[in-house]
Amino acid sequence: MQPIRMVDLVGQYEKIKEEVKKEVEEVLDSSAFINGPAVHDFQSNLEKYLHVKNVVPCANGTDALQVIMMAYDFPKGAEVLVPSYTYVATVEVIALLGLKPVFVEVYPDTFNIDIEDLEAKISDKSVAVVPVHLYGQCADMERILKVAKNHDLKVFEDTAQAIGAQFTFSDGRIAKAGTMGDAGATSFFPSKNLGAYGDGGAIMTNDDDLAAKLRMIVNHGQSKRYYHDSIGVNSRLDSIQAAILKVKLKYLDGYNEARYRVAQKYSQAFSKVGWITTPVESDFSTHVYHQYTLKLADGVDRNGLVEHLAEKEVPSMIYYPVPNHLQRAYSYFGYKAGDMPNTEDLCSRVISLPIHTEMSEEQQNTIIEQVLSFR
Ligand SMILES: *Cc1c(COP(=O)(O)O)cnc(C)c1O
Repeated sequence: MQPIRMVDLVGQYEKIKEEVKKEVEEVLDSSAFINGPAVHDFQSNLEKYLHVKNVVPCANGTDALQVIMMAYDFPKGAEVLVPSYTYVATVEVIALLGLKPVFVEVYPDTFNIDIEDLEAKISDKSVAVVPVHLYGQCADMERILKVAKNHDLKVFEDTAQAIGAQFTFSDGRIAKAGTMGDAGATSFFPSKNLGAYGDGGAIMTNDDDLAAKLRMIVNHGQSKRYYHDSIGVNSRLDSIQAAILKVKLKYLDGYNEARYRVAQKYSQAFSKVGWITTPVESDFSTHVYHQYTLKLADGVDRNGLVEHLAEKEVPSMIYYPVPNHLQRAYSYFGYKAGDMPNTEDLCSRVISLPIHTEMSEEQQNTIIEQVLSFR
């Protein structure tokens, strides 16, 4: 049996090696490393895949979030509502721009932003909300968009973990994650569902004026060469990464299906185990299982389980051990332990198991067996 990894990028590469090499070689031969045709091709392929008018490629998912917020030029101290239970990048960019992250709870079953708590935390300084489609499943966008409309908030989706997930509105309309709000940000970090072989990211929006602004900001705020209309950044998706992503985008739905099959098998194996709660799937969203995350019952020794699995060469991870409102970097916003009970509770009891596109039956049986042998 191949060693078990959280993510098997090697096995995945083996299957698309020839195609990827051919595309990369084309970039090398052309030497169009920056803004080459591969970047444009990938951009338009992703626009078609997502059914969105504009994709603006950039250097990584964190930049994607930052550039969106730069485009709005919110006043210093304006409040951006964001779940505390997310990867730090979502929060970091808010703080970096001199805005104030206002932390919101998540639902303990779906791990996504709690709409009642969101509404409770809106103030006259609130300017935007950043729903994070955590672990691969959409937050309740229909309700979020309604709340945002009522309170005049912008909606920026962090879809770094959920590219390809689909949301179904109550009128039957279907939209892809990242395309429902004013703008969406995604990441092509290698371990993400659509991963490059290095860093990469993109912004999605149906607003053409916003897209024009975003394209300018990622390119030093430049309107035409050497004429700079706003302060920008240097954030590019390079041609080699775009060439790789162009190949992998064709397989994204298949990759997401493979992850889903792994998740189904886990959930079948664990559904009747008293000390384990398996992930809950919402009616309104598909789940692309960027992570497969269990909750452990009270009294289950999580560190003990992690060590037990590690001894059997089964990796596991805690996403995330410390909520953002209790991170030292953000202590100046004045949050303290107890402020977000659901979030803090989740951080103490979640554990993520290996999930990827190349998992063999044998590997998965081993993982299941070793989890069950813990108690
Ligand atoms: C990975 C990730 C990001 C950041 O993406 P990078 O490409 O690593 O900058 C942002 N938000 C979430 C939820 C992520 O998982």
